[in-house]
Amino acid sequence: RSKRRGRAQITVYSQEIAQEMKRATQIEQALRNAIIADQVDVHFQPIVDLRSDTVVGFEALARWCDADLGYVSPSIFVPLAEERGFIEQLAETLLRKAAQAALSWPKELFLSFNLSSAQLMDPATSSRLLSIINQVGLDPRRLELEITETAVMADADVAQKIVSELRAAGVRVSLDDFGTGQSSLGRLRDFSFDKVKIDRAFVSRISADRASEHIIKAIVSMCEGLELEVVAEGIEDFAEALKLKALGCGMGQGYFYGKPADAVATMRYLSDRYRDSAASR
Ligand code: C2E
Ligand code: MG
Ligand code: MG
Ligand code: MG
Repeated sequence: RSKRRGRAQITVYSQEIAQEMKRATQIEQALRNAIIADQVDVHFQPIVDLRSDTVVGFEALARWCDADLGYVSPSIFVPLAEERGFIEQLAETLLRKAAQAALSWPKELFLSFNLSSAQLMDPATSSRLLSIINQVGLDPRRLELEITETAVMADADVAQKIVSELRAAGVRVSLDDFGTGQSSLGRLRDFSFDKVKIDRAFVSRISADRASEHIIKAIVSMCEGLELEVVAEGIEDFAEALKLKALGCGMGQGYFYGKPADAVATMRYLSDRYRDSAASR
């Protein structure tokens, strides 16, 4: 009897897998078309210096809404583009758009762009990225690249080479989602980073549990010693912002300071801020 049920379950699972594969292929086709039709967009979320409460840069975040599929999250379609071998095309169109938008911002603001793990395994990545921003005309010193520990671990030698080539050109590199995944503190010693981004998981629990507070405190102090900037991700309210400031965290990002917004809304956000600061001078 249990055998029969087992077989029934296997049938259900394989149907589910077939469904999922069908959907993945559907997303793949739609995304490939969207890239060609220039329908993948990029939004920008402010990164703030917590010491002065001023915007210092923006993180570019991919956005895509398909007519049939609706909104698809980048945490779905970025890995899919990697698996199906067209991350390069996706990344190129995103970086081009993001860099283009950054040209209109005040020059002191940086653009932070996420690199996927597949990009960090391809030795051609650094020259490719540099040639894109060179074509657009963005100063490489205004570009920052976010990479994750998991991505670094896939092929550490190649990743290290890519990172050092980019840094030699003036690009800064930050370690994203720090504290999640298979964290290795040795990575911070062997790799040259400029910044560490503390994962939202710690920030969102900072008011609720003391453990998260202690972990953030330790990360901040370690980064001070290593001369790395620290950014807290996912700050959602004033209380969290105050706590992070008190813990000595230098930079922050999250809905409290601004949600990701398109290029036009980002310019509006900036012009409001700069008008205010000009008026108070
Ligand atoms: P990430 O790089 O860690 O980006 C931060 C994510 O947290 C973004 O989600 C952002 O919208 C969200 N977020 C920011 N502040 C808050 C907050 O206060 N509360 C909450 N609940 N969430 C907040 P998003 O845009 O859905 O992106 C998810 C992930 O997809 C990113 O994580 C990144 O790993 C990846 N991704 C997004 N755009 C790109 C891209 O252009 N290239 C690559 N390779 N990956 C990308
Ligand atoms: Mg990021
Ligand atoms: Mg992150
Ligand atoms: Mg993340």
